[in-house]
Amino acid sequence: MSEDQFQDLLRRYYDPEKPETVAQLISAFSLDVIPSRFHTLLPPVILSDTCPYCEDIHLQRKPRTRGGYGGQEAFCPNCGHRDVPYCACPNCRARAAEARRRQEQAQRDLVHSCYSLAEWSVPEVDDLSLHLRLWARVLFTHAVSEDLRLALPYAARQQPLSPLLRHVNDMVRALFHARVIAPDPDSSLSAFDFGEGTPETFFPDRVDWAFLPGLSGGEKLDYVRKLDLSLAQAVEHTRGDAAAHDVLRGLWLEIACLEAQDFLAKRLEEYGYHDEGAGTKTVSVLEDLVTRFSLGEVCHVIYIATRNAMDYAHRKDLGRGHALNLVPGNLEMTANKYEAEGWLKAYGRNARCPQSTLSAYFFDKILGLGEEYFSMRAVDWETDRETGVTEDGTPAGRGT
Ligand SMILES: [Zn+2]
Ligand SMILES: [Zn+2]
Repeated sequence: MSEDQFQDLLRRYYDPEKPETVAQLISAFSLDVIPSRFHTLLPPVILSDTCPYCEDIHLQRKPRTRGGYGGQEAFCPNCGHRDVPYCACPNCRARAAEARRRQEQAQRDLVHSCYSLAEWSVPEVDDLSLHLRLWARVLFTHAVSEDLRLALPYAARQQPLSPLLRHVNDMVRALFHARVIAPDPDSSLSAFDFGEGTPETFFPDRVDWAFLPGLSGGEKLDYVRKLDLSLAQAVEHTRGDAAAHDVLRGLWLEIACLEAQDFLAKRLEEYGYHDEGAGTKTVSVLEDLVTRFSLGEVCHVIYIATRNAMDYAHRKDLGRGHALNLVPGNLEMTANKYEAEGWLKAYGRNARCPQSTLSAYFFDKILGLGEEYFSMRAVDWETDRETGVTEDGTPAGRGT
């Protein structure tokens, strides 16, 4: 078809009066096309803008049909780029990847400037409280990477670091403030909050924790040996030293109380109450119970008290908050009644509450009691110690 013929075809096609149908035009010009594909013969609209990726190639738009429908998107006939914000052509994807890489590098630089470990200094073992020495040692046992570089307090292990996630958070925060661990500036960028542009805050459970930053591998092992020695000495010093003894007893009760809270939470889960952290009143009741009874007996009390409270709440059709409010009072009354009537039994450890690394380390390694502590009252252990001191200094429990 000559250029003149083609222009004539276009003129007749775009005639607003539409004197001829598309089929008639196809027939008049002897075109080899079906009517529904006729629009593919129409010339594209050439725009003045050029493609950002191809030199001197003008963007185009699909031709307008006689019905008025035309392609609105400008595109490059050479590389397929479309002039829209969501274009996913190879060039746009590469450009976005590069922009992302640059942004990540900028963020990484910010993280490094905020969380540099170059000037980090770890504290002397002697300057750490007994709690911090124990926690640092437990964290090492729980999950320090093979190369001793990172500590992973939230790593999935068969057992948790501490019986309660809330307490893991407390341990991590305290060890960070004591400069035993630090956020690693090479952690995933998603571990930092760039809310205001600078990563002033981070997510403790997402960040990689550098363990004893600034020390070499050998120095870290020495540090851990010093922790061991100092913990062993702390236990030794409690013999005949009432104040020091109280510190150790305090740790016993603290860990037992965390384990009791864990069991209580699991019991409440059985009744459909999930993630119900024990309130202040409940914690204070449990603190009292672990002072008076063995952890096994406390678990018995928790089992009975939750059953009574939940049965009552169900019978009376009480709301959620009201039902939970019954728990602390029931714990206290059950404990008192069962003690007075001589009904207390020592439960074994519940399979849904695996012993935490903290508890295992403290009761196995520090006190040398093993699982026996579960059925032992703290007050009986104290009596045992007073009469069971050995000459060679092995712990007065059963030894490891
Ligand atoms: Zn192009
Ligand atoms: Zn594109």
